[in-house]
Amino acid sequence: MKSNRRLALIAIILTMAIMNIGCTPKQEPISKTAFLMDTTVTLKIYDKQDEKIIDKAIQRLKEIENRMSRTIEDSDISLINKNSGIKPVQVHDDVYYVLEQAKYFSTISNGAFDPTIGPLVDLWDITGDKGERDSLPTDGEIKERLELVNYNDLELMEDNYVYLKRQGMELDLGGIVKGYAADEVKRIFLENGVKSAIIDLGGNIYALGEKSNGDPWRIGIQNPFDVTGTYIGIISLKDKSVVTSGNYERFFIYQGKRYHHILDTKTGYPSESGIAGVSVITDKSIYGDALSTALFVLGVEEGTKLINTLEDVDAIFITDKDEVVVQDKLLDKFELRNDELKLVVNPN
Ligand code: ADP
Ligand code: MG
Repeated sequence: MKSNRRLALIAIILTMAIMNIGCTPKQEPISKTAFLMDTTVTLKIYDKQDEKIIDKAIQRLKEIENRMSRTIEDSDISLINKNSGIKPVQVHDDVYYVLEQAKYFSTISNGAFDPTIGPLVDLWDITGDKGERDSLPTDGEIKERLELVNYNDLELMEDNYVYLKRQGMELDLGGIVKGYAADEVKRIFLENGVKSAIIDLGGNIYALGEKSNGDPWRIGIQNPFDVTGTYIGIISLKDKSVVTSGNYERFFIYQGKRYHHILDTKTGYPSESGIAGVSVITDKSIYGDALSTALFVLGVEEGTKLINTLEDVDAIFITDKDEVVVQDKLLDKFELRNDELKLVVNPN
């Protein structure tokens, strides 16, 4: 009798579950793509059909770009740069916040991440052309520029005043600003009742909430060895940021060798830490962005030491020895989908 009742109950629950599945319409997301912050931005909302929310987010991205791009002449960052070694400049709260974070990540990474990298970025001039070049900067030029790179000479003062202490110093927030921007889009989405969305700022991803059926999002991890943008594997997660830095995004070729856009502040050259790509999983995208750049420069060993000192930070390293190094706590979330790469569990 008892077991009959239980069976009946199970039958009712099953029927309800099936009906529920049957009734839920599979909703297409609303989506917009724009070219902003020197990258392709795609915003997708899955649980609301209100395009105005996306437009609001895009407006905010433009505002951030206008304040923080160093190629926009009257941006706060350009004003700081123009006044390096001359005088402090008062900046907007947003800019001050990003600079505080940038300085913090410089400090904890011992300068592997350094927002005063501007003079070196200019010298290398690594755009996205992926073509051949017939010369490199000279060692003398590199040394000269390297002397201008030092986050300790970025002064964050009272009342949002910011000062670069030496003439010729230049801020470049390319390694952190997309993370901040993704966090801001997330904030706008949440404030407008969006609970399920994918925010993609050129590979700097925020997977907001979960899929409409309650499943985790499945985010592809880019293959750094294939510039056409295939995936080496998939990570399943809910409400997390996944930021990838790779040597495939922007580079040029000189005498058969790839020179990419993430620079080592110790040598002044594109970093050669044995990493082809690294993806960092965090709650805040600004942390993930700064850290992805830092870990790329630090390499697996030093990079792992750094993230072990931080809370809620996970990383997937792809090395130039065709290994994918993950921490064991990520194993149940990460699925390798490439036969040529070997999965290595990070012992640290
Ligand atoms: P992407 O911008 O391709 O997503 P990153 O977040 O790693 O990749 O940022 C790389 C950009 O950051 C470079 O284009 C340059 O503007 C800047 N950058 C390069 N090297 C460093 C560094 N060591 N520290 C801070 N920023 C850097
Ligand atoms: Mg970065």
